[in-house]
Amino acid sequence: ILPVLDQSQSSGMVNENEWFLEPMESKGTLFGLKLDGERLHAEQSAFQHIEIYQTETFGKLMVIDGCVMLTDRDNFLYHEMIAHPALCLHPNPRRVLIIGGGDCGTLREVLRHPQVESAVQVDIDERVTRLAEEYFPALCDSNDDARAQLLFDDGIAYVRNAADQAFDLIIVDSTDPVGPAEGLFNRAFYAQCHRALADDGILVQQSESPLIHLELIQQVHASMKGEGFAATRLVNFPQPVYPSGWWSATLAFKQAEGAQRQADSARVEAISADTLYFNAATLNGALALPNFVAKALAEK
Ligand code: SAM
Repeated sequence: ILPVLDQSQSSGMVNENEWFLEPMESKGTLFGLKLDGERLHAEQSAFQHIEIYQTETFGKLMVIDGCVMLTDRDNFLYHEMIAHPALCLHPNPRRVLIIGGGDCGTLREVLRHPQVESAVQVDIDERVTRLAEEYFPALCDSNDDARAQLLFDDGIAYVRNAADQAFDLIIVDSTDPVGPAEGLFNRAFYAQCHRALADDGILVQQSESPLIHLELIQQVHASMKGEGFAATRLVNFPQPVYPSGWWSATLAFKQAEGAQRQADSARVEAISADTLYFNAATLNGALALPNFVAKALAEK
């Protein structure tokens, strides 16, 4: 297991003035959203505690184990940027596996690509998907697509049992590396992803904040390379509701040439017709590394 986030103290709460507050003691930060009315839903599933709130300005909010997962207003940033960069950099992404992603927003973005022939989503917790269908129906727009398969299982076991070279792209859209997602951030899991990817395959993993989790990002890149991936790239983008407001996804390429490849400009243009954030210019910006991040990644 990599040195993971010290998130034991990250636990959201509602204060007496009806704000949802998510403190991160270890980083000395506090994020808040003003709520509108009573909590809409709360349950302890077999795996985690899930809550849904109505906020005043960010629409509906999903919280898992005290951590903000997504809001209506800004989830497009994360879902577009975890999906489209890799889908446009891969030469021919036909078979896609999503680990986690139970809110189905990543699946919806993946299925915008006509060359995708199958998209399997494996989330450990069916309750996340059922609540997304009820409270975030727009994210579930593509769940009935004939190419989509929704499975409810442990993503670690699923990848371990997958055939060699079964996928062109694996996207790990998980909760933070604590609880059930902890095993998605370790070398044994990366080794299995490497095996389950075709030769030109790409592994994508949400990799936390460049500003406050840089050490984790360094470890993720080093571990992926340690398990046979030839090269890694970082995609960075704003995400106002996550700690620090700045987030990242790591792309690991089985072949070194993959990391040199330019995005398919026709695909970028076609996809950009329907996106809110992703386009050719934001893709270039997202792949550009700030000096301190470039230095940190070069050091490992
Ligand atoms: N965008 C979010 C973020 O960065 O915090 C993640 C959203 S999505 C709701 C995360 C999903 O990962 C959850 O639905 C959770 O059930 C799932 N998950 C956690 N551990 C998992 C595992 N071992 N296998 C499959 N899914 C897992």
